[in-house]
Amino acid sequence: MSKIYFIDVTNRDTVQASRINLSKLQKTMVNLYLCEMGIHQSEFAFPFAENERNYVKGNLELQAKGAMKSLVLEGWCRAIVGDVEASIAAGVKDLNLSISTSDQMIVHKFKGRLDRDAIIHEMMAAVRYAKQNGTRTIGVNAEDASRTDMQYLIEFGLAAKEAGTDRLRYCDTLGFETPHAIRERIRTLAEGVKIPIELHCHNDLGMAVANSVAGAQGAIEGGVDAYINTSINGLGERAGQADLLSCILALKFARWETAYEIADDIDLSMSSKLANYVSYAFGVPIPINQPGVGANAFAHEAGIHADGALKDHRNYELYDHELLGLDLEAPPPRGRVITTGEFGGLAGFEYVYGQIGVIFDCDKQASEVLNLVRYASAHNQLPLTEDELYLIASYPEQVRTIMTITP
Ligand SMILES: [Zn+2]
Repeated sequence: MSKIYFIDVTNRDTVQASRINLSKLQKTMVNLYLCEMGIHQSEFAFPFAENERNYVKGNLELQAKGAMKSLVLEGWCRAIVGDVEASIAAGVKDLNLSISTSDQMIVHKFKGRLDRDAIIHEMMAAVRYAKQNGTRTIGVNAEDASRTDMQYLIEFGLAAKEAGTDRLRYCDTLGFETPHAIRERIRTLAEGVKIPIELHCHNDLGMAVANSVAGAQGAIEGGVDAYINTSINGLGERAGQADLLSCILALKFARWETAYEIADDIDLSMSSKLANYVSYAFGVPIPINQPGVGANAFAHEAGIHADGALKDHRNYELYDHELLGLDLEAPPPRGRVITTGEFGGLAGFEYVYGQIGVIFDCDKQASEVLNLVRYASAHNQLPLTEDELYLIASYPEQVRTIMTITP
């Protein structure tokens, strides 16, 4: 049977959303956490963009050094030859190429510059260029696919396949789908194009997670693998997109006639760390009712609920908090705290690193890392986390590259 993979797009789709952003070092941490969690792929950058150049270089180096294991670092660009050329020049080997396919966007965005045939022509030229120039995996994104005529979408998908794409991304760009309809449409599309389908669902009507898993179901019924696009904590353009953890939980614990197989070897115990880090880095609190990691996800007060949960927690919980790496009993830090950061000195710095088990060989090495820690703190404009400090000490050269942004 076909399988389900995950592609997290936090480092592309979420960071492009209005009023929220991550530093390059924070984006790097997200890649590392996704890797640790066992996610297949991170849509990690706009590789053609100059301001991403050093971040891309540093992350590809980290991967070459074995820090990101098998995580696929894939870049997003427009399905035009110029973007693909620049992305390849940046060293990125895996690409998703995007172009709009709905009449709404063809008519009202391209304004007569492109028609349906020209869209296919432009996309094919970009895919062929990517293929001929050594791109390892290619996905073609049909933007606004959910408002695209199905016959045309199949024609578009077949053309993409002919040009050499590996997958077709079905973008529910406006969150217009319903679970029943997307399942049917994806099955039809899968049967028509016979290549793996990516589900990219937004949450404008609150159905992103339901649409993603129903779409994946449709892909599998149509005989192809499904790749669900997600973001951490569901953040993304406007009302966001399918939350990574919610999609995994839905596949594992919802009522299904058939059990669907997740191909990624996912370590759910990373969930809490990942969700909390992303919340911290974006400065966006996790809603109290967030599935799995919200403060109330395992809280019970009402008489009947508390009584039932105490007798057998399965009365009111579908899954266990331990599974997600939540430590509900962990006490908040109290008393004296020593931190290191932008204006820290050597003594505090060495104490903090000692707490996480890092000892420096010599003063020279320590002062080099301290210097980077000062810059990293200024770069993030936040106190550094233990894992960030660990990354800085482990890969100082790559961290220096990643943090270097010069206009
Ligand atoms: Zn999107």
